[in-house]
Amino acid sequence: MDQEKLLLIPGPTPVHPRIINSLSLPTVSHVSDVLVSEFKEALFNLKKIVFCRSGEPFIVAGSGTLAMEMALLNTVGRGEKYLIVSQGYFGQRMAEIGNVFGLDYDVIQCEWGKAVLPEELKKIFSQNKYAAVVATHVDTATGVCAPVKEYTDIVRPSEVLFILDGVCATGGIEEKMDDWGIDIILTAAQKCFGVPPGLAVLVFSEKAVQKRKELGSVSAYYSDILMWLPIMRDPSKYFSTPCVNEIRAFCEGTKIIIEESLDVRFKRHKKAAKAIRAALSELGFSFFTEREFLANTLSVVRYPSGIDDKVFRSEYFNNGIVVAGGLGKTAGSVFRMGHMGNISKSQILFAIEALEKTLDSIGYVFQLNSGVQAAQEILDSNIE
Ligand code: PMP
Repeated sequence: MDQEKLLLIPGPTPVHPRIINSLSLPTVSHVSDVLVSEFKEALFNLKKIVFCRSGEPFIVAGSGTLAMEMALLNTVGRGEKYLIVSQGYFGQRMAEIGNVFGLDYDVIQCEWGKAVLPEELKKIFSQNKYAAVVATHVDTATGVCAPVKEYTDIVRPSEVLFILDGVCATGGIEEKMDDWGIDIILTAAQKCFGVPPGLAVLVFSEKAVQKRKELGSVSAYYSDILMWLPIMRDPSKYFSTPCVNEIRAFCEGTKIIIEESLDVRFKRHKKAAKAIRAALSELGFSFFTEREFLANTLSVVRYPSGIDDKVFRSEYFNNGIVVAGGLGKTAGSVFRMGHMGNISKSQILFAIEALEKTLDSIGYVFQLNSGVQAAQEILDSNIE
């Protein structure tokens, strides 16, 4: 049965039983005390997760793409320009949104597998006038983790807003909103939060909210943060019916993160990535992403010669693991494995055991148990 497969695509990620249980709680009134209290707790925890003291959090039915749209429409006006720091696939989406809404932008695009270097951003940024700089923290197609702190060091001294797409990072990799000077972190429920898909999640700095107010009207209704602001401050008010059960589940997801503690969670993600990559390397796989930009949340894995993408993924599926194929130009030559959210040590080891079983069954020659051993050594070690 499909339900028994371990979902290791780069989101949605495996859902912890506590979160599944919270989804099955009754659908209470969206303005009931119980929902108001859980909604408030989710918003409060969300700010903690991005190290934000004074900003405004938003949790809205939708997905990461809605969050991208909300970030842009509420901060960039017609006649203004934003700069996209694009590591791959999802930077391009920031351009497509601009095209649809008639917003002007420039793009710094790097080769897939690499990140835009801070020097390149510095050069373009100093030569032009922008309302906002938009960067993807982890690009889900290329597995690249961008040097966000170095980008913010360039933008922070100016008035320009810094918008971070954290869809594949927030809650799994550190993002210090206040300290680094990030004005909007946008994300979604289904990746490092480990909650089923269905929510656009954002935190705006006070400066970003102020910018929305200065814009006057925007080309948005449901995406207008000023419609949502009163609800986020007091969820007993009504604008548009929130998805009650999903918010209850998201609240539980944020509780799990806070209970684990952010520091421990970030280190766990780092260790999981190391263990999985050690196993894959031992078995003869390599990585699409340049070493210094490898993300802790997913791996984009190149096949050793002789392994066919479709055959491999279908056999891996039969052995209990769902991984994703390559996106865009990498399709057919890589597979993508997510290792984020609430994934456990035993799930990682199960995934590597199933990988060995898969390789064996398709006739690939390797030393049996060497991948499992490589992963186990790292998971059992004190390496951080
Ligand atoms: N940004 C990034 C970095 C993503 O990985 C994704 C989804 N894979 C999105 C944005 C879009 O999110 P959604 O699919 O939830 O609309």
